Order: sequence, then structure tokens, then C-alpha cells
Amino acid sequence: MIKKLLDRIFKSKYAQSLGHANSTAHTSAHPTHKPLQRSKLTAKNSHKHAELPHHGALCITHKSHKIDRNLLSNAALKTTEGLHKSGFEAYIVGGAVRDLLLNRTPKDFDVATNATPEQVNRIFRRSRLIGKRFRLVHVLFGDETIEVSTFRGSHLEAEGDAKVTDTGRIIRDNVFGSIVDDALRRDFTANALYYNPASQEVLDFHDGYADIKAGILRMIGKPETRYAEDPVRMLRAVRLSAKLGLKIEAKTEAPIAKMADLLADVPPSRLFDEMLKLFLSGHAMASVAALRAQHLHHGLLPMLDEVLEQAMGERFITLALENTDERILAGKSANPSFLFASLLWHEMLAAWEVHKKAGHHLMPALHLAMSEVIASQAEKLAIHNRYTATMKEIWGMQPRFEQRAGKRPFALLTHPRYRAGYDFLLLRCASGELPMELGEWWTAFANADGEARTAMLLADSAPKKRRRRARKKPTVSAAD
Ligand code: ATP
Ligand code: MG
Repeated sequence: MIKKLLDRIFKSKYAQSLGHANSTAHTSAHPTHKPLQRSKLTAKNSHKHAELPHHGALCITHKSHKIDRNLLSNAALKTTEGLHKSGFEAYIVGGAVRDLLLNRTPKDFDVATNATPEQVNRIFRRSRLIGKRFRLVHVLFGDETIEVSTFRGSHLEAEGDAKVTDTGRIIRDNVFGSIVDDALRRDFTANALYYNPASQEVLDFHDGYADIKAGILRMIGKPETRYAEDPVRMLRAVRLSAKLGLKIEAKTEAPIAKMADLLADVPPSRLFDEMLKLFLSGHAMASVAALRAQHLHHGLLPMLDEVLEQAMGERFITLALENTDERILAGKSANPSFLFASLLWHEMLAAWEVHKKAGHHLMPALHLAMSEVIASQAEKLAIHNRYTATMKEIWGMQPRFEQRAGKRPFALLTHPRYRAGYDFLLLRCASGELPMELGEWWTAFANADGEARTAMLLADSAPKKRRRRARKKPTVSAAD
């Protein structure tokens, strides 16, 4: 009963939300195309559009969009060709089309089709069905993987497998639909373009082409409803706008600050995936600045709440993010463990201090702080275990860099994570936390040869390990 009522409320809200996306006023902003007269594209009447040419979408020809076919991946072309040959519709969709229109090389290609996952799986020998939440197919060509999804329907119209929470968050919506439905449930207009490599036409259901050309990121439907359905869309708005240099349209931006708290309900592992994308986008600095401006940073990572407020913490994180951005933009890889170790370092320092003051020795206090910081982080944004192990190694090495006598520095050089630990040390020096001289010493020490290294060692000030004296066996007296 309650579910039915909720469904009704959402149906009516959702129907209202369609108003903007199909407004002819916006369509007419399109510079090079005569807009087709379109009636409202709703999931309900989508079957009618299937009979119209191009399903009722604007059709943008190669003459206008000028997408360079050479920028398409062969694997994506083979995938759409294979599906076409078997009589199915197939398009390159989402981020790849958007990036091509922005003259950027897409990092991955997704394909959408009216074939079911099982049908796709049967067409391509090297393919596998994946996903619990969404059923998808990965088609493999050499080392490239193309993600193929079946057109999805609206959860609101669905009889089947869909579920919504009482805040409107969709937790399951694995229902198939038409291309019209599929476009409607995508997030931004720029992400709802369908490129058919065979005809070289782009189908545009929500005026995404005009938005891209105008440099605008606009939510499809009513932004409040779409954020309530999936709060991660707020993070996506910030990330995509920073990465692509698109301006978030006013109505799309307005509800974000008010609705930011909804992110608290998103599963921590999904938040981690999204934040990782943000940090590794090559525009982490700009994204973090935008997150703060939109008040989206609270509760994501403690560092974003407090550390950025203090000069040294801000300097440390700025250096870490700039470093990561530079590496990504230069085509190098960036290690997520190093990044998260940096983001949480100042929280670690504070926790470490508390445990030292409570009377724990240096290393036990550090280990207590590490476990505590990672555990409290996991409640909000769950850093994968495969990264936390390396983060702990990087942190755990730090006190060892301050020991420059005896055999210890030699042993540290042979640590399997030495390079990451050393880079981390340099960040600490550059941010003013440690004297620059310490970082310089390690640079020189690592580069020096055997004898020069020995000459660099400092006098050993560390307390000598006490040798345990063998206890004397108690003498047994005759009297016993
Ligand atoms: P990127 O370039 O970072 O990969 P992207 O837009 O391609 O950006 P993906 O996560 O690869 O991001 O998603 C592919 C497409 O799926 C998007 O372009 C969009 O159409 C759709 N999509 C992804 N996430 C959502 C979401 N939360 N809500 C609605 N549609 C989404
Ligand atoms: Mg993508």
C-alpha cells in the first residue's frame, strides 16, 4: 500500500520534472539544426516515438558534428558492427560521445543496444555477463573492453525489478526499456547522446548537443528529483564540470548545497569509487575547490572538513593534489594509496599526537592512530582494503626517515615501498611540516655510493637496545 502511494507520488513528481528538458525554447537554441517538433518524450509514450524517424530525437549529421572517426576505438566499432549485423540497434553512448564533441579523446567507450545481455553475450565469443546491480556485458578485444548495456527503462513505469527508498533514492532499477527511456534516465543532457558509427549520426533526445556547444552541464528532468534518486549525481556534476570545463546550469546547481546531506546515505564503497574518479581525473584540485564551494565536502573525507582550514594541512593537500594532477595530465599513473595516505595524513598526525600524549611509545601510538583513522573513514567513504595496506606502509615508514644513524637508513632503502615513502616525506618537507634538509639528505643518501653513504650517517643518538642479561638460575639450596 505504502509502496503504491510512494510510486504515485514519484510518478507525478517525475512527470513534472520532464517539463524543462523538452522545452522548445531550449531546443531552438540549437545553432545548426532545425529542431524537430517533438511531443513530450516520456517513458509512457516512448513506443510512439519508436515509430518516428530517429525515435523522435534530433538527428545530427556528420556535416554538423564532424566527429573524427579515427578517434573511435576499433573495439567500439567492432562491437556496434557485430550488433548491427545481427539486426540490433547499437550506439556509442555517454561520456565517449560527449568527449568526442568536446574534441577530447575518450578514455573508454560504452555501447547501448536493444539486444538483451544474453543476446549480446551470444554474439561475441569473447564476452562475459557482469554486474549485480545492472546487468551488463563486457566485450573483450585484445586489452580493450567495451561495456555494452541494454537500453534501460524508467524505474517508475516498471512492473519489474525496481526499488526506491523513502527519500526517493533508487536502489535497484534493472528494467529494460526503449532508447527514449534510456536517454531519459541518464544524468546530464551532454551524456545522453547516441552516436551510430555506421550512419555517423548522433541522436539527441534532450538537446545535449546544443548544451555541449554552449559549454553547459544540464540535468535531464527536475534536478531535485534526480539528485534524490541518486545523490552521487551531485558529485558527478562537480567532477564533470571541473574536468570538462562545462558550467553547471543554474537550475542544476541550485539544489546541490541544500541536498548535500543526502550523500550520507550513499553506500561508502560507491562514494569511494566516485571520489577516486574525481581525484584521478587530472583535475582534482579544481574538483576539490568546487566541492567546497558547493558544500559537498562535509563528511566525504575528514580532511576536506577540517584540514583545509589550517594552513599547513591545506598546503600539504594542495601539493598532493597538484602532484597527482600533473602526473595524470602527463599520462603517468597515480597511486590511489599514496593519494589517500596524503589526504588523511593530517588527521593521522592529530590522532598520533593524542596517543603519544596518552603515554604510548612512538610506533605503538602510530599504529593505534592508523587503525583509528582508517576505521572512522570507512564509515563514510570506504577505502578498499587493497589500498589501506599500502597506506599503512607509507605512514609506518615515516618515523624511520628521521633515523639517520647506524644500519637503519640502509635497511629503509631496501623497503619495497621505499619510493612511495620517500615521495611522501618530500611532500611533508615541502609543506613545511619537516625541515627541507631532511628530504635533501635522503635524496643525497639514495644517490650516493657505498662509502659516501657511510660518511653521511649521523651520530647515533637513538638509545641503545639493552641487552638482556641471562637470568641466573636460582640455586637450589640443600635446605629446600
Ligand atoms: P567519465 O568520462 O568520467 O567516464 P562518464 O559520463 O562516461 O564520465 P560513466 O560513469 O562512465 O561516466 O557513465 C557512463 C554514462 O552512464 C554517463 O555518461 C551517463 O549517461 C550514465 N550515467 C552514469 N552515472 C549515472 C548516474 N548516476 N545517473 C544517471 N546516469 C548515469
Ligand atoms: Mg565513461
